[in-house]
Amino acid sequence: MLKAILFDLDDTLLDWRGFNNQWPEFEEVFLGRVFTAISHQIVPLTNFRAFVDDFRERIREAWRQGRGTLIAPNLGRVLVETAEAMGVPSGKIDEAFVLNAYDWKAVPGTKLFPEVLEVLKTIRDHGIRTGIVTNAAQPMRIRDIEISEFGLLEHFPECRISAADVGYLKPHPAIFQRALDELKMQPEEVIFVGDNPIADIAGAQGAGMQAILRITTPVPPMLSGLIIPDAAVNTLDEMLPMLDRWHPGWR
Ligand SMILES: [Mg+2]
Repeated sequence: MLKAILFDLDDTLLDWRGFNNQWPEFEEVFLGRVFTAISHQIVPLTNFRAFVDDFRERIREAWRQGRGTLIAPNLGRVLVETAEAMGVPSGKIDEAFVLNAYDWKAVPGTKLFPEVLEVLKTIRDHGIRTGIVTNAAQPMRIRDIEISEFGLLEHFPECRISAADVGYLKPHPAIFQRALDELKMQPEEVIFVGDNPIADIAGAQGAGMQAILRITTPVPPMLSGLIIPDAAVNTLDEMLPMLDRWHPGWR
């Protein structure tokens, strides 16, 4: 029996196609806030360029390692390491301090896919619970700020999971298991929806769930047929009649 649907966040619920890809400029605003907060409240720092360069090297390395080990990068940890490399005495700042200063917000140009809120309402109105499982370096408490801006938070009152908090990236089974543990459900009772064949589809199927691919960009080659989603949709509302066939009587 279907009891819950878990969603990937980026490019599944949240449409990034309108973002202008000026990530470095955008990110520097957030890094600037951290640099200023440290300089004003902890210890004066003088070289913002060095701070940015050191941070970027560390976060790049964390993602590089993550691709091989599936150990998740963690923005808070990397910011603390960067600050310490810039001369902030060890133990003077923690992840909460740097993340508060970072002050993450929704990214200009991103928006929800148009059908998202209505589909979520339909699902939840029929007693199906919902969750988010995202491969983000940002801990969920700061992505919560962003999804709140989009009106998503009320549709996900429980089970919002970021890889940074679990310590592992999808497709590692630990992050899917965390979601099942939080929902107190078995994988057969849960469907996963995501846009990434490896992270979302292979990961969720490996954890025992059915997995629906959201086709956001031109369909990837499915790794020559090694990864086959249980279904594929172009918009999330296409999922509803599919659920009718898989789980008659759910609505
Ligand atoms: Mg995604």
